[in-house]
Amino acid sequence: MKIDKNGIFIDDYNKNLERRCVDSSCQKKYSINEYLEGSEGDFYPPVNYIDGCSKSCLECWLGVSEFMDNDTQVENDVSYELGLEFPTEHGHWYDSHKFDEIGRGNLEVAYEKYIKDDCHLIVIPLSRVSVDRAIYLPCGLIVYPVGGLDFSDLEFNSEEDCELSSIQSLSSGVTIDSFTTQALLVLPIKLNWNSLLFKGHSEHMELIRTISEMFDAMFFNFLKYENCQLTYIPDEGLPNLLGQINSNPMMAGALFLKNGTRKAKLISGAATHTE
Ligand SMILES: [Zn+2]
Repeated sequence: MKIDKNGIFIDDYNKNLERRCVDSSCQKKYSINEYLEGSEGDFYPPVNYIDGCSKSCLECWLGVSEFMDNDTQVENDVSYELGLEFPTEHGHWYDSHKFDEIGRGNLEVAYEKYIKDDCHLIVIPLSRVSVDRAIYLPCGLIVYPVGGLDFSDLEFNSEEDCELSSIQSLSSGVTIDSFTTQALLVLPIKLNWNSLLFKGHSEHMELIRTISEMFDAMFFNFLKYENCQLTYIPDEGLPNLLGQINSNPMMAGALFLKNGTRKAKLISGAATHTE
């Protein structure tokens, strides 16, 4: 199987042969043809699925399989410090004179002081959480109801569209649409934006987990204690983990909004495994 100047060359037998993914926890049945029809671009660099298509399903090759151990995938190895830091100055939170605008989802107004303090914003879907208006929490956190934020004018960074991690996120099936059908948590965060763009997929997933744990410890455990009914079946009445997508709870996502701009970076994948 190879790519030459005329394109991909795979004979019909090999194209249509039913294969089983080599990943022991996946073992999905697939044929190369299925992926050629939907994702031909992934056979070429930088994904190079041509090298893996005879043994592995595309999802496992990309490291976005639900069954995949996130630590075993190939990464581009650009590592500069993410510098993740939660802001410490919250004395200005929140401006009660601007309730209306904040309630209507105007994040620029809501986070004006944090933005001046060099914070970016993270928007995270909440699963099995329902609110009927914007709920203010301490330290710059707001929970918005379904449809409470407008994402129509975001600019997704196009230069990095060919980054492997972006393709991996894309393959998880999580899109900005997933953010319009769930309650959303917004929080301010300090981090190195360029570093965020160039981090690999597994580091992005680790980041979602870190933020999720941080939020659980800060507020969510308390909110659950206050508001959720406990049942005999553990978890039945509790919200899902932070970032989980209703339509596919194996996947989680987070949307990063660049300080003071409409630039956005969506990261998503199978982040909900417990180690
Ligand atoms: Zn697989």
